[in-house]
Amino acid sequence: MANNISKFSQNCTDCSRLGKHLKEVRKKYPKYYAKPISSFGSTHPKLLVVGLAPGLHGANATGRPFTGDHAGILLYQMLYKHGYSNQISSTGINDGLKLKSCRITNAVRCLPPENKPIGEEVNNCNRYLADELKTVNKKAVILCLGQIAHRSTIKALSLNQSEYFFKHGKSHKLNDGRIVIDSYHCSRYNTQTKRLTEAMFNNVFLKINKQLEI
Ligand code: URA
Repeated sequence: MANNISKFSQNCTDCSRLGKHLKEVRKKYPKYYAKPISSFGSTHPKLLVVGLAPGLHGANATGRPFTGDHAGILLYQMLYKHGYSNQISSTGINDGLKLKSCRITNAVRCLPPENKPIGEEVNNCNRYLADELKTVNKKAVILCLGQIAHRSTIKALSLNQSEYFFKHGKSHKLNDGRIVIDSYHCSRYNTQTKRLTEAMFNNVFLKINKQLEI
């Protein structure tokens, strides 16, 4: 059960299933980071990207969201193309990558078994996302990658799920001026099956830049 202190800790043990899983992963892959993953990027972003959860051989291995696995390839390409970073790829924490006016976080900070967090884990982690959202200013865009990221964001903002449905490419204007934009997740599965193509993801970023007047 989560307590009320919401500052993110890399020693968080709120979710027993995830804690056990990480312990097993550390045994199997002693060189992997295999702890709760911090967000990465600017502290007061114009664009906050919300992913799902660390991937086994990506963020979980390197310690940085979307870094080192397939899911990050298209995301970091787009961030570079649209002016949010100094490099086209993200390979490891010492690769020199810097994000500009952008921050990347996850709805769930620990590696879930089979990439599938359960509801209780998404809920436990929500207070960390709520903290992240406080750093995002009133003219900012929040890009939600997939349904879980979208629902977690709506919950963290204390909004009503029934008023904000997930739909790829949709912009939701919030009462405080911020915009939530939805996209299918840039996972290997989604990109290889063409559920999310490069052109579709590019259009999402064009929309974001229009909102931010970039
Ligand atoms: N890596 C992340 O950090 N988040 C995702 O959602 C997928 C891969």
